[in-house]
Amino acid sequence: MKRSKWYSDKDFLNVQKIDAHIHMNTRHSYFNEVARENNFTLLSINTEVPEYPLLPDQQEIILEQQSHFDQSVFHLTSFDTSGISEEGWSEKALEYVKESIDKGACGVKVWKNIGMDLKREDGSFVMICDREFDEIFGYLEARSIPVLGHIGEPRNCWLPIEEMTVDNDRNYYSQHPEFHMYHHPEYPGYNDLINSRDQLLENHPDLLFIGAHLGSLEWSVDEVAIRLDKYSNLYVDLTDRICHLQYQSFSERNKIKDFFYAYQDRIIYGTDLEFFDGHTRADVFRESQNVWMRDWKYFVTDEEMVVPALDSPVEGLKLEASVVDKIYRENAKKCYRI
Ligand SMILES: [Zn+2]
Repeated sequence: MKRSKWYSDKDFLNVQKIDAHIHMNTRHSYFNEVARENNFTLLSINTEVPEYPLLPDQQEIILEQQSHFDQSVFHLTSFDTSGISEEGWSEKALEYVKESIDKGACGVKVWKNIGMDLKREDGSFVMICDREFDEIFGYLEARSIPVLGHIGEPRNCWLPIEEMTVDNDRNYYSQHPEFHMYHHPEYPGYNDLINSRDQLLENHPDLLFIGAHLGSLEWSVDEVAIRLDKYSNLYVDLTDRICHLQYQSFSERNKIKDFFYAYQDRIIYGTDLEFFDGHTRADVFRESQNVWMRDWKYFVTDEEMVVPALDSPVEGLKLEASVVDKIYRENAKKCYRI
């Protein structure tokens, strides 16, 4: 039988897929089991999030998981930014990265604490393009080790609640005014953060960099496209920002489709699913299936669907199967060598 040019929602289980951005902070095997059942390989991202276990503990957890689920879960490492102003910090951080790569990490994650939280002793913010990180990025650049960078936040974070585009941001920033940057002009602004990431890419043109969350340019595919055109080693992941594309596709569905066709080799699927020891197998099953099926339906069909972050139904993009394969598997394989 000739293969169809398009997938349907029934093909979900048959297609090998990679969720290239999850956080497995649990020793339970549920998430790996559910991923296997759904034909997903996972890339777990160790990150310096205050609510997460410490980085060495995250690493230990994921290495243990990998010993049971060989070739179906991979991971990225990160480095501890505390003590960044101290003598010898950079050597120490780089040493940890090297050890992690030796143990099997596929790359390195940097997080939004850089640019939005991390300060020097003189009170100045440390930005991702600053000299403190030069040695580390130089090392990674020379060896083509991929860096996944979550720098900044959705642009909504700097807008008043009533101007925000999606419900999840409206809800989150209403409940967390301390993180709503619209009220905090004393922190670096949205453009400062975007510029700092762009500057890093200028400083290290051979660095293989994946802009997490659509490179924090989720509000405009034009803005993402400008960077993808300019920086040939830049990729973006879709993690937790698909609703922003859906929002744009209300008025410009064809433009969003064109974006996927034009940059089909540079876009990577990911979800930000995160699980802890407190989650039951049923929780993991329900939540993963929910997110994975919803996204699949949006990309492969042209059905109208209701998504939690938007008040009106959105029409699926119905991308060709060859493009879906790249976004859901081939690009992550190539970038992270998994
Ligand atoms: Zn994440």
